Amino acid sequence: MQDYQIAVFHGDGIGPEIMAPTLDILRAMAQRSDSYHLAFTDAPAGAAHYARTGDALPAASMDTARRADAILLSAMGLPDVRYADGTEISPQIDLRKALTLFAGVRPVTVRAGQPTPLKLPAGKDINFVLIRESTEGLFFTQGTGEVTETEARETLRITRDISEKLFRFAFDMARTRKEAGDGPGRVTCVDKANVFRAFAFFREIFDEEAARNPDLTADHAYVDATALWMVQKPWNFDVMVTENMFGDILSDLGAGLMGGLGLAPSADIGLDNAVFQPCHGSAPDIAGQGLANPFAMILSAAMMLEWLGLRHDNAAMVADGRRLRETVDRIVAAGTHLTRDLGGTATTAEAAQAVQDALDRA
Ligand code: ATP
Repeated sequence: MQDYQIAVFHGDGIGPEIMAPTLDILRAMAQRSDSYHLAFTDAPAGAAHYARTGDALPAASMDTARRADAILLSAMGLPDVRYADGTEISPQIDLRKALTLFAGVRPVTVRAGQPTPLKLPAGKDINFVLIRESTEGLFFTQGTGEVTETEARETLRITRDISEKLFRFAFDMARTRKEAGDGPGRVTCVDKANVFRAFAFFREIFDEEAARNPDLTADHAYVDATALWMVQKPWNFDVMVTENMFGDILSDLGAGLMGGLGLAPSADIGLDNAVFQPCHGSAPDIAGQGLANPFAMILSAAMMLEWLGLRHDNAAMVADGRRLRETVDRIVAAGTHLTRDLGGTATTAEAAQAVQDALDRA
């Protein structure tokens, strides 16, 4: 029996409403398993916490996160609670920097029955992963760019160290997907190497990693063409890896393909830590009304189980992660327990209960 410590950030707005049923599902799964046990520790943080205490991310919570095997984080931030300088409170970004979570993993999946603005040809579904570098790139000077009367400058920084780690991660992910039958084993480097020297450098490091992985296919695409192809033939992608700002933009395009943010999970992964959280924000407009869609949070928890299982060689945990993801997929395809954002009438509790019931039945 393996024991895992999970740090839990309940978040703001709808955050706690979608975290609570997600933890219930995880507890039930772990209880049924004889190969792993999950221990949850609350890590207070966020905008409401800042409003109460003047501290958005207490040192004790940071410590809990650092020591945990994985971090589960719900949506954070509130539009009217800000730091004195007017900037938003986003402990999730502080965690990303403090723990060097360089790989932002954004799965983009559209399966049978899932609403999408695209008309998919028969037999085609969308199932790729976008990996966004999350610690440097054009976000390097975030908050410290130079602005004068006549001009403004930000710096794009690409380092060999982070790029090597990023590409190794991308190729490993493509191999894992291939072995699981989820993809053909292909990694696409998305850049602008035809215009910027920094991206030619990025691509060169990618090619070095590609040469170390002859069992996988590697190719390149310019970011502008990638935006076009994500709309025209998204079923062609497997794993794509890109710089921070490009990834920021393309991941919202990916969420758009998925019919919105309600089904978009994510992970921010480093060498020693990983945060799993839904892509959406804290949706204060619907907080406290039982309208929040819990599926992106539940799918993020599924990613956590798979990641922990792979990392610790725990096949049962990987299988549970997949089972949880497939259960949500089936409920979405059936269309019977959807929340309002997906065109249904289910409450947060009813949608989450449908997942719990399906798992109980299996
Ligand atoms: P952030 O900047 O923190 O990402 P945001 O202002 O872009 O946040 P969200 O908080 O994600 O936006 O909300 C955008 C819209 O999507 C809102 O109308 C919100 O109600 C809706 N929304 C977001 N998440 C959910 C969810 N889980 N269930 C239902 N509706 C949601």
